[in-house]
Amino acid sequence: MFFPTQFPWAKDQTLGEHLEASGVSRRDFLEFCGQMAVLLGLTEMAAPRVAAALEGVKRPVVIWIQLQECTGCVESVLRSADPSIGDLILNLVSLDYSHTLMAASGTAAEGALAASMKANHGEYLLVVTGSVPLAEDGIYTTIAGRTAKEILLEAAAGAKAVFGVGACAHWGSVQAAKPNPTGAVGIAEVIKDKPVVHLTGCPPIAETVTATLVHYLTFGGIPELDADGRPMFAYGARIHDQCPRRANFDAGQYVEEFDDEAARKGWCLYKVGCKGPATFSPCPIFQWNMKTSWPIGAGHPCIGCTERHFWDTMTPFYNRLPNVAGIGIEQTADTIGAALAVGALAGVAAHATATTVHQIRSRKKAAAAEGAHDGQD
Ligand code: SF4
Ligand code: SF4
Repeated sequence: MFFPTQFPWAKDQTLGEHLEASGVSRRDFLEFCGQMAVLLGLTEMAAPRVAAALEGVKRPVVIWIQLQECTGCVESVLRSADPSIGDLILNLVSLDYSHTLMAASGTAAEGALAASMKANHGEYLLVVTGSVPLAEDGIYTTIAGRTAKEILLEAAAGAKAVFGVGACAHWGSVQAAKPNPTGAVGIAEVIKDKPVVHLTGCPPIAETVTATLVHYLTFGGIPELDADGRPMFAYGARIHDQCPRRANFDAGQYVEEFDDEAARKGWCLYKVGCKGPATFSPCPIFQWNMKTSWPIGAGHPCIGCTERHFWDTMTPFYNRLPNVAGIGIEQTADTIGAALAVGALAGVAAHATATTVHQIRSRKKAAAAEGAHDGQD
């Protein structure tokens, strides 16, 4: 069994008791809860409520299985730039099985998985990274002689909730790119009897995973999802509508080559391939590595890694985004700066407004859930 700190979380201990025993200060815990409340679309004022709910949580058991993937998602989730927050992330759960992180291997590791699934049947949270190869009866990924499909179906059967982390678990990602020789599919193609929460991206932002777990533990359920199973608090808005370079897009100020003056000035990357207009992701708001930066902030176009089939639909990555139905973006970029662009801009603005309204509605729902939770106290 893997314990993230030298202070194992005892089964009947609450999270509050566990953090106190681990030496985590109340100030750090409240700061963490405040950050999570903001990410979830609540206000920082909700931090004490989130803290109160989390403090009373008894050790939730998480089983994390890895199927056909590169381990990048595990790295992303665990390699937080801030050690104290990283500890808190790990302290939120008791990770009973993760074959990358646990000390045990081979028969002992598989025995731990079987024992935890049996002891916590119907109660554990299942986290899955990786796709499921279905071609040739699943022989492209086997662990202890069992195929990824068999392992996933067994683990999902006893899970209280299922969280797919990363683009591979979402739809297959790079393995599913044409011609998809292993027949890779996302986990929701295999798990048909319960909803799967998709925390997608290649890899996803660590805080997206943490905030979703915090939502589950605080409100006792999964957050509102979009039509593709992604939490609205994180994936409810297009990158293009939250991008600090949007003013340059609207003003017709584009980078034409990566080392030109426009690139040095930080202008819009649309003409060098940015897929932000067709990508729903929290990158501009959450950012990466504890808000150090994010791809567009560092001068690189978004490649659309949170969208299905992006290896096929968003490539070549440095080519300008083709026409996107309903957005009219290509026409906008070609005509922008001219008076004739006004109509097309209105189209983009309308789409942006619709997206923003949707996000605001989602955030209002989150706030309402917060209120309902308050009423139960
Ligand atoms: S095209 Fe890309 S860089 Fe330009 S505003 Fe949109 S998201 Fe930002
Ligand atoms: S900016 Fe785009 S490609 Fe980069 S991580 Fe975010 S969603 Fe993925």
